[in-house]
Amino acid sequence: MQIIRTIREMQDYSRKARLNGLKIGFVPTMGFLHAGHMSLVDSCYERADLVVVSIFVNPTQFGPNEDLDAYPRDIERDEALCREHKVSAIFYPTPEIMYASNYSTWVTEDNLSKGLCARTRPTHFRGVTTVVAKLFNAVLPDVAVFGQKDAQQLLVIRRMVRDLNFPIEIIAGPIVREDDGLAMSSRNKYLSREERKDALAINRSLNSVVNLYKQGELRVTELKKVIFDEIVANNGKVDYIEIVTCDSLEDLAIVNEPVLVAVAAYFGNTRLIDNVLLGE
Ligand code: AMP
Repeated sequence: MQIIRTIREMQDYSRKARLNGLKIGFVPTMGFLHAGHMSLVDSCYERADLVVVSIFVNPTQFGPNEDLDAYPRDIERDEALCREHKVSAIFYPTPEIMYASNYSTWVTEDNLSKGLCARTRPTHFRGVTTVVAKLFNAVLPDVAVFGQKDAQQLLVIRRMVRDLNFPIEIIAGPIVREDDGLAMSSRNKYLSREERKDALAINRSLNSVVNLYKQGELRVTELKKVIFDEIVANNGKVDYIEIVTCDSLEDLAIVNEPVLVAVAAYFGNTRLIDNVLLGE
């Protein structure tokens, strides 16, 4: 497994691989890897001959009062996990390599990047689209895998790829959960034992919504209320609960087409997100 630190070396690596007839897969991450990330690597190998994982805590997707400096990092452990999963190369640039000091070019998606997470993180998706575009230009992949865990991000990236004609196939990987249902996240590390227990309310409430929907409850306000009550009853603070159309993230009153049920909530100071699809 190679560790590649510069953009030039990364591009050379991929160009050589392509000349050798190899299909290049890519899994962008911010590191502190867990089984969710590694499932994306495994599914990437179903479509590619080699897989590049990037590990880059991207400063431009963090807001001024967010956890950029505190974001967990453990490159040795990440390397070991990548070796275990037969990752071909880790692209591991520094912020200085990714962003020149007078950096001034941004990629913005203007529609799907507006609601949900953007309401409390208004500059987040601009950072995501910009860094993913830059990573695509460094890694030059044929296929890239993103997690359904970040459902809005996945849609925004698909839209960017379509709108800007990136010749890259985007694949979605399902949400990987801990045994007790908590969606895996690098940020789970921040949770105290008590908060972690409380945070199970998110998944529990999403499961309740799935069951109610199966029993015929289609009213969005009723379904949202179930989630709100469960989270608040377990010391959580709701950031948002949205039930929106799957592809365009539009509000609706009745679930009469496939919808995304997306939640963001704080347990202590830790903001967690999770979601489920209904009617897919
Ligand atoms: P991050 O390192 O949090 O930026 O995530 C990198 C990629 O892993 C993104 O495409 C995420 O959606 C995906 N991911 C994060 N957590 C999970 C999970 N629990 N299951 C599946 N994919 C995940």
